[in-house]
Amino acid sequence: MSELEASGYKGHALQLLKATDCGIGDILKIISKGKSYEGILIPRSGAGSAIIIKMKNGYNIGIEATVDVKIEKIGKGIAPQFEVPPLPKQNPALPHIFIVSTGGTIASRVDYRTGAVRTAMSASDLYGVVPELADVARIDTEIIFSIYSENLTPQNWTELATKVAERIEAGIDGVVIAHGTDTMGYTSAALSFALQNLPVPVILVGAQRSSDRPSSDAATNLIGAVKAAGEAPFAEVGLAMHETSSDIAIAIHRGTKVRKCHTSRRDTFKSINASPIARVQNLKVTMNTNSYQKRDSKRKLVLKPIFCDKVALIKFYPGLDPAVIDFYVEKGFKGILLEGTGLGHVSKFCFDAIKRAIEKGVVVALASQCIWGRVDMNVYNTGRDLLSLGVIPLEDMFPETSFVKLMWVLGQTNDSKEVATIMQTNLVGEISTRTLPQNLNVDGGSQ
Ligand code: GLU
Repeated sequence: MSELEASGYKGHALQLLKATDCGIGDILKIISKGKSYEGILIPRSGAGSAIIIKMKNGYNIGIEATVDVKIEKIGKGIAPQFEVPPLPKQNPALPHIFIVSTGGTIASRVDYRTGAVRTAMSASDLYGVVPELADVARIDTEIIFSIYSENLTPQNWTELATKVAERIEAGIDGVVIAHGTDTMGYTSAALSFALQNLPVPVILVGAQRSSDRPSSDAATNLIGAVKAAGEAPFAEVGLAMHETSSDIAIAIHRGTKVRKCHTSRRDTFKSINASPIARVQNLKVTMNTNSYQKRDSKRKLVLKPIFCDKVALIKFYPGLDPAVIDFYVEKGFKGILLEGTGLGHVSKFCFDAIKRAIEKGVVVALASQCIWGRVDMNVYNTGRDLLSLGVIPLEDMFPETSFVKLMWVLGQTNDSKEVATIMQTNLVGEISTRTLPQNLNVDGGSQ
């Protein structure tokens, strides 16, 4: 594959660029519909046939590669240079932390001249970008994937859990996982179930803005995550991100109780039906609760990394065609997580399909699309009817954690009675016995 193809160019755009010997970073003049545009050729993402250039004013524009478009190369590009700083001296008195990178904004650096993106997660990169880390921990780093988190699969969760377990068994003081924020809540739930009986903390961390932007949250989130991994008294899976939109503190959420709630804000992650378990402020970790598994380096980790990928998450909406439920049953799915309305309902028109699914041995469980609160399927007839069909109510677990748990439970056993029991048993803080009063604000989070 040529550099141009690897940069997303295909079809007529690719032919035009090849014919004029243009590469990424070269300066082009493009004439289209009587207008002339000059700029640096940059990589493109997604579908489409436009040629993307970065103009002198800093804006990127896309020009459709139609047959009448003319291209001229007017300058040769300079390959992007990323300087790797030397590794600072590691202080042996500090905790030893393993940072593993899976990709996403936190792990990338952009050359804004050409748009070239590269993974910046070697120990030297990290100390270079975040020099304060040298006073917080000794770090080992490894890039396990370079994947935007929307492209991760349960197979990746298995590999990640296995890699983390290896390092914990080798005696590391804590683990930090750099991750894209879009599906970081799914991975934190998956690891909470896969890595049981943890001796040390495992902290996921992401960034809403990359490390080379002035408003980046990458460094503060990373320092908070490393500090918690090295010194927090708990030994659970947590997720570290900005507590508010300012840089004052980093919240550490429990891995099964946390959800991305805002597309762009730095405090996008909120604990749902729970409070964050800890916070890091001025390089000090403070616990918010007494109810957590204590750090104990002698505890023996139990690794259960298998997930069943034949589980569907079906969001109920008015008019949902029950054929959607039949479809998954016919496709051999073993579990269906229904995202029901309110206290735990779906329309009576779905009942027959649900009955057919359960009779065929498919586990059908239900969480509420309200996100906050607890399902109670004994209040209305609809809920009671669903319970009598054999639908499993999932307390105060929100749909994504419920879905990941169902995948994980079906990865451990096929016995539907056992699946039902485990789904309703609190294993790693995913089900709270009491619904805490939680103030909701317009962003959908707690204050
Ligand atoms: N969508 C990408 C991801 O989740 C990039 C955004 C981010 O890192 O937050 O990996």
